[in-house]
Amino acid sequence: MSHDEHWLLLCGGVGGAKLALGLAHELPPGSLTVLVNTGDDFRHLGLWISPDLDTVTYTLAGLVNPATGWGLAGDTFHCLEGLSRLSGPDWFRLGDRDLATHLERTRRLAAGERLGSITSDLASRLGVSARIWPMSDDPVATLLHTDSGLLEFQDYFVRRQAAPVVRAIEYHGASEAGPAPGLANLLKDPGLAGIIIAPSNPWLSIDPILALPGLRQSLADARAPVVAVSPLIAGQAVKGPSAKIMRELGLPPDAQGIARHYLCLLDGFILDDRDEAEAAGIGLLGLETVAAPTLMRSLDDRRSLARVALGLARRLGNSIGRPHRQTG
Ligand code: GDP
Repeated sequence: MSHDEHWLLLCGGVGGAKLALGLAHELPPGSLTVLVNTGDDFRHLGLWISPDLDTVTYTLAGLVNPATGWGLAGDTFHCLEGLSRLSGPDWFRLGDRDLATHLERTRRLAAGERLGSITSDLASRLGVSARIWPMSDDPVATLLHTDSGLLEFQDYFVRRQAAPVVRAIEYHGASEAGPAPGLANLLKDPGLAGIIIAPSNPWLSIDPILALPGLRQSLADARAPVVAVSPLIAGQAVKGPSAKIMRELGLPPDAQGIARHYLCLLDGFILDDRDEAEAAGIGLLGLETVAAPTLMRSLDDRRSLARVALGLARRLGNSIGRPHRQTG
């Protein structure tokens, strides 16, 4: 492996962070950049909350609550309990020590610092060697058009537990938002060995990133191979509403539906070995397809899925050009 090899992971929160951790263990320190969705970010109790950035940061720092996959291990909720007693808005779970992150991020944003620089600094103070980049320094808000009206992301996802039926999704502000500084250069870097799309929710976690101006095209133009991991296993999301949203949007909730969703960006696709019967059909779409265990329960599971993704991207990178890449 070359020392100058770099890898880029596109990811959301809990599902994406699991693969990020596997990759961070499998790659030399400093060679992984994680580009994280910020479409879930919102202002709450006067604080700027970036749930996916914090989930990835806490996970890579070894501090995440293993029971939930988000928040800090061993955190307490005294502040939230106090808020409840006062009938304040207690529907969004914020731990006491976690609050320090939101206080500090909000303080630094108010002082004029960019989200990317704050995120990098907080991550390095927590001992993370991977680069964690918010997809943009500019605010983007995922909004859901549902049978209960137009909903802000956290209202839909946390307060209403993703129950409303989704009709359409919009990424408010995305068309004017600048992609993470450094991203354009990374995508052109000859040392970029591969781009991996995490098994995150395609509509809620990855599409906000892909909605940034020029990003789809820069990914399609990158020399490095692009591979995605399916977030569905046997037609079901491991967690959250991915499959439910697919059904509501009239799409078949299966691995092929995920592969088709990303098709014009991809060279390779990893689906769960329980869905191996779908591999041939996905291969016919022109994608190098690998079936592997994708359920990440343990650190070993995370590392072995990371090795599968790295191996597939390396194989594709060694083939001449990008014969499978669609254009569009
Ligand atoms: P969120 O922002 O916290 O919802 O996190 P993500 O969007 O990153 O992750 C949610 C997606 O991850 C869901 O579609 C899950 O099905 C998927 N997911 C979670 N854990 C796993 C896993 O162990 N394996 C696979 N293949 N997908 C997973």
